[in-house]
Amino acid sequence: AQHFLTRIEAQRDLNAFISVDSEATLAQAKIADATIAAGQSQLLTGIPLAHKDVFVTRDFVTTAGSKILAQYKSPFDATAIDRLSSAGAVCMGKTNMDEFAMGSSNENSFYGKVKNPWDVTRVPGGSSGGSAVAVAAGLSLGATGTDTGGSIRQPASFTGITGIKPTYGRVSRYGMIAYASSLDQGGPFARSAADCALLLTAMAGFDEKDSTSIERADEDYARLLNQPFSSNATESQPLKGLKIGVPREFYGAGLDEEVKAATQAAIAQYETLGATVVEVSLPKTELSIPTYYVIAPAEASSNLSRFDGVRYGHRARKYSDLEDMYRKTRTEGFGWEVQRRILVGTYVLSHGYYDAYYLQAQRLRRMIAEDYQNALSQCDVIMGPVAPTPAWRIGEKSADPVQMYLADIYTLSLNLAGLPGMSIPCGFSACGLPIGLQIIGNYFDEARLLQIAHIYQ
Ligand code: GLN
Repeated sequence: AQHFLTRIEAQRDLNAFISVDSEATLAQAKIADATIAAGQSQLLTGIPLAHKDVFVTRDFVTTAGSKILAQYKSPFDATAIDRLSSAGAVCMGKTNMDEFAMGSSNENSFYGKVKNPWDVTRVPGGSSGGSAVAVAAGLSLGATGTDTGGSIRQPASFTGITGIKPTYGRVSRYGMIAYASSLDQGGPFARSAADCALLLTAMAGFDEKDSTSIERADEDYARLLNQPFSSNATESQPLKGLKIGVPREFYGAGLDEEVKAATQAAIAQYETLGATVVEVSLPKTELSIPTYYVIAPAEASSNLSRFDGVRYGHRARKYSDLEDMYRKTRTEGFGWEVQRRILVGTYVLSHGYYDAYYLQAQRLRRMIAEDYQNALSQCDVIMGPVAPTPAWRIGEKSADPVQMYLADIYTLSLNLAGLPGMSIPCGFSACGLPIGLQIIGNYFDEARLLQIAHIYQ
């Protein structure tokens, strides 16, 4: 813990953390020491992890990247955090993120931008950018993130690490500050699929405090890592029998040539490992952008109504009456992107527009989920790029929110369908920026995805 605290201090310019509290960390580390001394080590005893500041924690302030929650301290730990600490993990601090997880570049944080350690003039991706940087820069061995529309996979891809977004309902959302409840899902970041498997084993599981948590037995996600993929797998072809679907729509206009080449080379490498490749189609890929950017803001506008200056966090100092207090508190407390989404969300939910926007988006959402089932009936997993380009320059897209939304094209549909997916590093651009390969599976296929990633790694 001391080693990583020193590294965090030395790398402060990356701005990966919102709160670090060495006393709290060292107190947790002491408990881990005692557990080891007593011969009672658990799965993650003493493993230093960084937690996205969207998970509430008792020992550390939780802000969700927002001014409205500055200094907020929760009386309890989120279930996912509680499970990781019960397995022995030590918290190194809370990581920077786009405010309320709204963003793809970590430029929307009240606590400042996060820098990509591969090139500090570039973004680390978002919204879990701080967590991805904590792992990529060696400030912790693993980290937690949340993925509503790509926020684990895309920053993992931009920083050259591994991240997995599990099936919706697998990781408890209790104590995870809600952005879009029907899409939000927590998951881990680490250097490898094998490490992600250990972290996910501790994090995931049924929780009666989350009404959308799936009642299913706990799983050991590492169980397939060293197993043969199929009965006809051989040493040189360990993935014999694996059928990979490559969606044609993931290789259309707008895809950067280097990302195309790196992901295609990775898929070719999978073929040499014994897999076969088929072309599949996800025809509504482009429509996933407007669908997501109606549904997510709609849910956000409802979820964020609880930040009213009465129950939590910031309250405006001067106001004339209750209405005025709400208005001033929320105007001062929320950043531009959050305000934009609350406005979009309340608009699409309002009388007269609900049918035209929200209901239409819900219909499209169902069709997008059906497209995936159709594609997955022809293959075991789907592979393709995570994002159309490698990490862009800080400031490059911040003036134009639509440009930022378009960069989510390959990640949003997975959340609309509730499927699991991951990003693994698969190469670099000519200027040395990491590129990720996305691997998508059917519901509850996490152990398989991790095995397929592990064999490649
Ligand atoms: N970039 C998407 C958004 O801004 C996804 C963010 C996320 O997954 N939390 O909403």
